[in-house]
Amino acid sequence: MIVDKLGRRFRNLRVSLTAACNYACTYCVPDGKRLVPAKNEMPATDLLKAVKLLQQAAGIDKLRITGGEPLVTPKFDDFLLGVMQLPLEDVSLTTNGQLLGKKRAVIRESGIKRINVSLDTLNPMRFKQIARGGDLHTVLENIDAMLEDGVRLKINMVPLRTQNQADVLAMLDYCLERGIELRYIELMRMGHLATGNGFQADFLSMAALLDIISEKYEFARTDAPYDSTAARFQIPGAGVFGIIANESEPFCRTCTRLRLSSDGYLYGCLSNSRRHSMQALLDLPSYQSLPKLQNILMGALADKQLAAFQGETTVMKFIGG
Ligand code: SAM
Repeated sequence: MIVDKLGRRFRNLRVSLTAACNYACTYCVPDGKRLVPAKNEMPATDLLKAVKLLQQAAGIDKLRITGGEPLVTPKFDDFLLGVMQLPLEDVSLTTNGQLLGKKRAVIRESGIKRINVSLDTLNPMRFKQIARGGDLHTVLENIDAMLEDGVRLKINMVPLRTQNQADVLAMLDYCLERGIELRYIELMRMGHLATGNGFQADFLSMAALLDIISEKYEFARTDAPYDSTAARFQIPGAGVFGIIANESEPFCRTCTRLRLSSDGYLYGCLSNSRRHSMQALLDLPSYQSLPKLQNILMGALADKQLAAFQGETTVMKFIGG
């Protein structure tokens, strides 16, 4: 197993199935152009081969399926069914929820039990302005369908000062009523937000969010697992919410994440555009591929930041959120 000076190792793998997306969220895509697949995206069979190798070489035990939007690609079904057969402690999915209804049968068949839905507002007009694709009503129907099927849902919201600050409490009410854990994600300086004024104009800090929430609720900080990215808060008698406070409380020192892009590159850190190709290893016998992969993983682990996210022009769509 590969461990760095801070005791960090790779445990959580995020696999981006495709760079394509049916939304064009303002904070992810600057010009509103719908995202397309990356060049040379790998089929489900190769992505599964890569996952198995990473399990052996890095000791991965948790996997999250992401994108782009993972439900837009036809390989979603095969990848999901394949990955659910692997001896992993936990498999989860991050999606914008627009196509969950269409994928309900395969989700049931696979047995996956944890899904995060990204949803930034409950207001149809603001939804159109931020997501620039899809429709809110379908997402809300799909959330109800997943709850009916017994899936444990979390909702991820990126609060933006100029776009959806007014939804901070409404989203929390909606989630508490349904027993869903809401997680506010502090805006990250990625892609076009790494430069220019957009980040400063829209950033809402953990302190600012807690101020808004305290207008209506009393809450106390509660425990979070060692390598969790979220600070968690309990509202007595009502439920829990979290804040992924990437800026206010960076979690680089305990980060165990590794990312595999749809075109076969490994990224050790969201705040570092260095990438390491795995494609050439997939067809080698394991006595050759495993030592090579160990070397690659040492390089990817060294890409992690020591203390805090620095901002990065890499776009989330390529490496998965
Ligand atoms: N399409 C899927 C979805 O919407 O969940 C998966 C990919 S998306 C890149 C994953 C998450 O990253 C979403 O919750 C999205 O809101 C978040 N995200 C994208 N860009 C971000 C940024 N600059 N700062 C904070 N979160 C961001």
